Amino acid sequence: METKEPFAPSALARPVVPVRLPSIEEHWDCHQCAQCCYGTEILLDEEDLAKLQSQRWDLHPDYRGVRVIQRAGLFRRSVRLAHRPDGTCVFLLPDGLCRIHRDFGLQAKPKLCQAFPFQTVPDPGGALLVVRRSCPSAAAGRGQPVRLDRSDVQEALRARPPLEPIRQPPEVVKGHRLGWSETLRITDWVERFLRDQNYPLVRRVVHTAIFTELLAGCRPARLNRSELGELLDLLAQQAVREAGQYFQQRRPPDRSAQMLFRRIAADYVRLHPRIRLRRCWPHRWWWIKTAWRLGRGRGQLPPLPDQWPGTAMETLDRPLGPLSPELLQPVEEYFAAAACCRAYSFLTRPGWPLVEAIRTVVIGYPVGMWLVRFAAPDRTPTLQDMIEAVMTLDRGERLAALAGGAHRQRLRLLARLGEIPRLAAWYAR
Ligand code: SF4
Repeated sequence: METKEPFAPSALARPVVPVRLPSIEEHWDCHQCAQCCYGTEILLDEEDLAKLQSQRWDLHPDYRGVRVIQRAGLFRRSVRLAHRPDGTCVFLLPDGLCRIHRDFGLQAKPKLCQAFPFQTVPDPGGALLVVRRSCPSAAAGRGQPVRLDRSDVQEALRARPPLEPIRQPPEVVKGHRLGWSETLRITDWVERFLRDQNYPLVRRVVHTAIFTELLAGCRPARLNRSELGELLDLLAQQAVREAGQYFQQRRPPDRSAQMLFRRIAADYVRLHPRIRLRRCWPHRWWWIKTAWRLGRGRGQLPPLPDQWPGTAMETLDRPLGPLSPELLQPVEEYFAAAACCRAYSFLTRPGWPLVEAIRTVVIGYPVGMWLVRFAAPDRTPTLQDMIEAVMTLDRGERLAALAGGAHRQRLRLLARLGEIPRLAAWYAR
């Protein structure tokens, strides 16, 4: 977003919580595209508010009568940076730079902006540093390798020090909690599945989905450590054996599963970087019509002028044909990062049992491939379409609606219908 400033190595931040890099190599440099200044909810704490107040924007000729902060929601007490009617941050300049940064320097910005796209995921041993793929440069892996001694990483850690390590592991299934080492064994299996280079990505996702539902049917808290290890091995073998049926003959998911899936996909549509909804009635109306028709699964999805051409519902289910490894690379890397960082369980879904949190990762695959069809209804997908699908999935990880009860219930119903692996196989065509 803005040029990074040189940073003295002697001033390296020393967080109390040890920060590690994940076991994948990530690449990132800011290319000043300003995507992070559109539609992002930048929540402000007391310190951020005090800094903004000292900058006296109320006296600035460009901001007279303009609100620079606003309530984060009708029923929420938190405050965020204000947006313009087109959804951009009130401080974004026409050249893509941040006005606070330009006038007062990096450290004058709210802490969330200073740290983006870096984020730490707490775990029992400290915290893992991850790069948010809602930034297109991170989604495309463009830039230098991410290392802890980079000045921008150190700035990010200084602005937002990692949270305390998690003390208690999440429940594995509702009412069943295991110790840390057993819980991590399960997340290790998820990582092993999703990064297993012996299979194509869709197959790995299906393995993970089946493994998760087999585990959901167990009562693992009654097992000792070695029994759990044996159980996980057996479930993993069973998952690989069962996966074949979804690829021998690809049948569409049943009607109820399709309806639930489209409701989930609709929540992601408005996060797509090519859909920039403004606070105006034509855009609200477009969204109402689109969500309604997606729910029904029939009819024509209306165009959004200058942004999206509209399409017939069937187009969103059409086969894409084989996609090259280069095209799939951003999606591959997104799932590898999701698997090894475990943000799905330790950060973004507090209170969700582990198996339910894993479902949110797995459903990301069919949603991502559906979004590629949505973005390119009348042409062959491009690398840019893939990058934007990944950006959307990352944005969804932090959307309140996708961490709430309705989303959780939809995933439970899909799991009960046994249709999550079928959705993955269907949208991989
Ligand atoms: S989205 Fe990423 S590349 Fe674009 S301005 Fe923000 S940090 Fe830089």
